[in-house]
Amino acid sequence: MEHGIYLDCHSTTPVAAEVLDAMLPWFGQQFGNAGSHSHRWGQLARDAVSQGRDQIARCLGVRDDEVVFTSGATESNNLAILGVAEKLKRRKSNIVSLPIEHPSILMPLERLSRNGWDIRMAKVNPQGTSLAGQVDLDSLEPLIDDQTALVSLAAANNEIGVLQPIGAIAERCHRQGAWLHVDASQAVGWMDLNIPNWSADLVSFSGHKFQGPKGVGMLYVRREATYESARPVRLLARTIGGGQESGMRSGTLNVPGIVGMATAMELAQANWSQQSRYVADLRDRLWQKLQSGGDLVLNGPALETDRRLPNNLNFLCPGIEGQSVMALLPDLALSSGSACSSAEPGVSTVLTAIGLSEDLARCSLRIGLGRFHDQAQMDKAATEIGAAIGRLKK
Ligand code: PMP
Repeated sequence: MEHGIYLDCHSTTPVAAEVLDAMLPWFGQQFGNAGSHSHRWGQLARDAVSQGRDQIARCLGVRDDEVVFTSGATESNNLAILGVAEKLKRRKSNIVSLPIEHPSILMPLERLSRNGWDIRMAKVNPQGTSLAGQVDLDSLEPLIDDQTALVSLAAANNEIGVLQPIGAIAERCHRQGAWLHVDASQAVGWMDLNIPNWSADLVSFSGHKFQGPKGVGMLYVRREATYESARPVRLLARTIGGGQESGMRSGTLNVPGIVGMATAMELAQANWSQQSRYVADLRDRLWQKLQSGGDLVLNGPALETDRRLPNNLNFLCPGIEGQSVMALLPDLALSSGSACSSAEPGVSTVLTAIGLSEDLARCSLRIGLGRFHDQAQMDKAATEIGAAIGRLKK
């Protein structure tokens, strides 16, 4: 887009030029099915998939056979949660999560609850505290027992950017023999992602959240014993058919998507540190300028903590609905505290879960930045948002 500023990188990101270049040959020239064994078209596609798998495995410090390609984090989260629950339904009875999770975690849990599973929600720190949204470990600990199949949560929240203490959570899971599922959708490009350091058993990713393509993702399924009490992870496939991905996820592989996601993952892993510092400075500049215009309240953890995604801002102006601000700013891509992705538009459950009233949640705006932003865009966005809020206050 020539004009306008895209500030909604938690929703999706543009495909990086290098990623698009890497993908293009795999649409028209090399279009083979990676599952076709009888000719070189298939062989080339299979080689591309195996190279992509290898690149991703190396980036994440895991084995090739621990990478299961999917269509995105929604499918990965569903496979992790419903797949483990189906496998362990005779031996375990509860699953632990957080009230601030994405619907692709909460909805499968809701279904399991209707089927007799005991779904337990740990508390998160309330709004107004410096680590708002972070799990309260004292409340988490007693929820995990020898009947816990899985603890499922996001490493980085998609609305308030709070980072969870994955190591400390993993320790509490493994003490009780529970597996840990981490949704890392929002984390790629903003931290050093070495999965064995997390001691996680299952980890979800979505290509388009880190300048890769849409419609492709992956689930890491641990096979290596990366911690002392590790038992092999077992889950029942949700999509069955041709037996691709070792039977864990049938369906013709998305070769261009996999090639693109692997390239995007390499870029993200190579640049996360520099990118995080650059984008945090932009974010802080934007916040400073926004605040100078009036009485805004930051939602989620304090910016000074290192427990917030460097590209995330979420704030509210009391009495001014986020939707109204956005309506005045058609050239800015923002997102409000109303969740409109579902059939029934509602209020952000993340914001209400940290203690905001529905009215205040509706007054919230979320901004997600990327490495392609610059200072001039921050200044322009701050001026325009400030002006829109000013008009609505009159
Ligand atoms: N988990 C989180 C934390 C997300 O932010 C998203 C996307 N908003 C998803 C899962 C789902 O990803 P996708 O839509 O690519 O399947």
